[in-house]
Amino acid sequence: MKYGVNEHGYYGDFGGAYVPEMLYPNVEELRQQYLKIINEPDFKAEFDLLLKDYVGRPSPLYFAKRYSEKYGANIFLKREDLNHTGSHKINNAIGQILLAQRLGKKRIIAETGAGQHGVATATVCALKGIECVVYMGEVDMERQAPNVSRMKMLGAKVVPACSGSKTLKDATNEALRDWIANPVDTHYIIGSVVGPYPYPDMVARFQSIISFEAKKQLFEHTGKELPEYVMACVGGGSNAMGMFYHFLDDESVKLIAVEAAGKGVNSGHSAATTFLGREGVLHGSRTILMQTDDGQVVEPYSISAGLDYPGIGPQHAHLYKVNRAQYTSVTDDEALQAGLLCCQLEGIIPAIESAHALAQLEKMKFKKDDNVIICLSGRGDKDLDTYIKYFNY
Ligand SMILES: *Cc1c(COP(=O)(O)O)cnc(C)c1O
Repeated sequence: MKYGVNEHGYYGDFGGAYVPEMLYPNVEELRQQYLKIINEPDFKAEFDLLLKDYVGRPSPLYFAKRYSEKYGANIFLKREDLNHTGSHKINNAIGQILLAQRLGKKRIIAETGAGQHGVATATVCALKGIECVVYMGEVDMERQAPNVSRMKMLGAKVVPACSGSKTLKDATNEALRDWIANPVDTHYIIGSVVGPYPYPDMVARFQSIISFEAKKQLFEHTGKELPEYVMACVGGGSNAMGMFYHFLDDESVKLIAVEAAGKGVNSGHSAATTFLGREGVLHGSRTILMQTDDGQVVEPYSISAGLDYPGIGPQHAHLYKVNRAQYTSVTDDEALQAGLLCCQLEGIIPAIESAHALAQLEKMKFKKDDNVIICLSGRGDKDLDTYIKYFNY
């Protein structure tokens, strides 16, 4: 694949595995094993069966008729919101738990910000009867209390990260510390296409089911496999990578990645990484991240917890730099309005993350016959409070 990872773990200038020496054996074990394991027929069969019967795949490619009339093109929504646990994150969590089992691991750890990845991880650990520890910033535990309860009901231990800003990056540090202390029996499930190689490639492969299905489904709808546009929101970038994956080499397909502008790209409260960021190292890989002149990571902001991340995965940094995909951003207000419009036009309450991708429609000019696929990465149940406060329902 032209845009895929090379044998050294890089996408052009980005990627690699920048980890402390004490983590090297863990990451090296994964690097040596992951492709071999995920290509075994037995792995594939179990992964496919769980995606079908447990997650509910294939997720529909829904032709959104009223959107299509409004925007003057054929708009299709890839319905990851209908997956078990409410988003695309379960695809990756299942892939990694099956891998961990085959590596002989007895214990799973994860970090979580909003709790969505923590819930997906706790879910698959319950399914497999494996011990699960989720690290979460103390501040996030307060902000996302229902997800903390969900994880506990599912049998996970939720450990508060009490250092620094008590949010996602502190939880990540705690998880890494745990992994260093427990290298033999523990697997660390990272929730997006970020982190040291091989994680970005591994997670992209697990999420690539999204575009694998979408290609076939678009053909069933239109007689064509290739749309004109494929769009998705980007936090770390896993739903977007999954949605882009099988279209990457088809250069006629325009790929559009939508970041969170927060209160505006120049407001000081934003997560628009490609606009505000520079090249550097974040969470184990060389990528683009928001940083100060002396290289301190800038605290990001977005109303949507899933997009509130100061970097993007290294493959996105590469697609941005070589201009294969276009990166734009949408503000909190634009996203919330787009979320409400989706409710009223299509009867679907989208996650606020996904609403960022929908908001981008307002800024596009389509031709009448254009086929457009948007990844609806998750459902909005978790965001009801935010919607209610904003619109005064
Ligand atoms: C976590 C999350 C995201 C952002 O993560 P990516 O890795 O960028 O996909 C987007 N949408 C939903 C619904 C999420 O839960």
